[in-house]
Amino acid sequence: MTHVVTLNAGSSSMKFGLFELTDDDPIMVCTGAVERIGEPEPLVKAKSSDGSVLASGTAGEIRDHAAALDWVLNLLARSFPNSDVTAVGHRVVHGGPEIDAPVPLTKASIQELDKLSPFAPLHQPHNLAGARAAMERFPNADQIACFDTAFHRNHPWENDVFALPREYYDKGVRRYGFHGLSYEFISDHMAKTAPLLHEGRVVVAHLGNGASMCAMIGGRSVGSTMGFSALDGLPMGSRCGQLDPGVVLYLMDQEGLSADEISDLLFRKSGLLGLSGLSNDMRTLEKADTRESRQAISYFTFRIRRELGAMAAILGGIDALVFTGGIGENSRLVRERVCSGMGWLGIELNPDANADNDRIISTDLSRVVVMAIPTNEELVIARAAADLLAKRPRLRTA
Ligand code: AMP
Repeated sequence: MTHVVTLNAGSSSMKFGLFELTDDDPIMVCTGAVERIGEPEPLVKAKSSDGSVLASGTAGEIRDHAAALDWVLNLLARSFPNSDVTAVGHRVVHGGPEIDAPVPLTKASIQELDKLSPFAPLHQPHNLAGARAAMERFPNADQIACFDTAFHRNHPWENDVFALPREYYDKGVRRYGFHGLSYEFISDHMAKTAPLLHEGRVVVAHLGNGASMCAMIGGRSVGSTMGFSALDGLPMGSRCGQLDPGVVLYLMDQEGLSADEISDLLFRKSGLLGLSGLSNDMRTLEKADTRESRQAISYFTFRIRRELGAMAAILGGIDALVFTGGIGENSRLVRERVCSGMGWLGIELNPDANADNDRIISTDLSRVVVMAIPTNEELVIARAAADLLAKRPRLRTA
């Protein structure tokens, strides 16, 4: 049986999946993650499609992404000795202004993508390190990159620019938008399960440790809350979200912070963590019930509501609101807060359906259908790999 391995390498984590290729949709065999790469006590977890746990807990030293990949591949070889890996699909955060679809990876194309690393310094180098390591470990497998930016690349010009002198736009300082693999999954899922809504005006809120929202018409992105980097828009686990650029100038000029220190502040110490002073994790904040944790949740849901109103204005109203991501799929509290008082927009939440975590959580009379749909970025990568393999049975990595 032929298989695809999917890799999603973050700054200190590597999520992975193993999928069996079939004539139809790829079938998930196993998924998992290595977390805290390079730290004293790395965490590993993996489970197969039948729910059995293949790994869980702390692992010995995993000093870098190559070591993480070794751990993943050893686990897969041990647990699924008969799998024949014909392709490895990689999540790559940045595809730049031109790329709007998955591409085969070669050593040359990895070098080209490395030129985009200054645009996503905390993600791109790690994504590409994963791709390089996979090429060494699977010299005969095809390598395929799927981009978080690709889904948004054809959005309107007004959503693509900042009001800076034009030369910066030409240099690539644009609003790219991210979480594209998640939005693609939701768009495909709606096309299959709710085709009429899919044709309409949909806002998807991907609320996880990273968070953004996407406005879609006919399943295509027309706007995103994330812009040039994965910092803009909604506040996130530890990222600030929308910020007056004057704050950055103040931090530099008056507080004397260096670029690295500001980056650390905005990416790792802000958002829910910064506001609560407690945690970046929504479950912890919901349980904590301190003034600061309540305020952090309030700011989070306030910003989602604000962006929802803005997107509704651009779309001329909305037909569906979809929650996804770890928080969107699970947090009854956040969904309830986002939807409350949104009757003017046609949103009427069904409290029982919300409490039960149903797929449709609006009332029958609600003009807007509100849904909670689990995302599956790994499946999007596996599908892309299967499609490219079907078109070109043997891609080469030379
Ligand atoms: P993700 O990055 O998509 O894995 O999402 C991680 C976020 O989802 C964390 O903030 C978790 O606390 C949050 N989350 C996961 N499960 C729940 C839950 N049952 N209730 C509230 N938040 C949750």
